[in-house]
Amino acid sequence: MSTYFGNGTRLKGLADAHVPGVEVTAGSLGHGLSVGVGLALGAKMNKTQQMCYALVGDGELNEGTIWEASLFAAQFKLDNLVVIVDVNGFQAMGMTDEVISLGNIEAKFRAFDFEVVSIGGRDEAAIDRAYRDFKASKNGKPKALITKTGKGVSFMEHDNIFWHRGLIRRPTKPLLWNWESAHERRIF
Ligand SMILES: [Mg+2]
Repeated sequence: MSTYFGNGTRLKGLADAHVPGVEVTAGSLGHGLSVGVGLALGAKMNKTQQMCYALVGDGELNEGTIWEASLFAAQFKLDNLVVIVDVNGFQAMGMTDEVISLGNIEAKFRAFDFEVVSIGGRDEAAIDRAYRDFKASKNGKPKALITKTGKGVSFMEHDNIFWHRGLIRRPTKPLLWNWESAHERRIF
């Protein structure tokens, strides 16, 4: 962790197959979904019941590869693919609305022939329900789960550039206190 985001580190800030347990390098942004689409197609071809889940950020939707992969998923009727979109309103260098506004994300995925469900990203029951419903839905449509999220800790919410890269360079005690306190109040 002490080398995070530094020169020569394995922890570069994006998924990297050099990190033990990470099988796919999915940075630059936008490439993880393409891999997920390939895995979902493979599961279909092998006639398995496997589902494939791909987690993407809202800022990541700025990448053209996301929409190329989505076109492919609809064309090949990958109803075993779930794209989870973490909509926290921020990307690396600012607010998504100010960098490249995403507009109506639900409408965009519907236009790409996805089945779409929107939930609060911290609502575990809603997440479970959506996963169950998606798994049971054999309608030929890939799925998109739009989750409204945030960093979950009050003092982190509006200092995006710092927290995007700098977690370990600030004292973590108040963060841990806030996190535990939030758990006690069942915010998450
Ligand atoms: Mg984001």
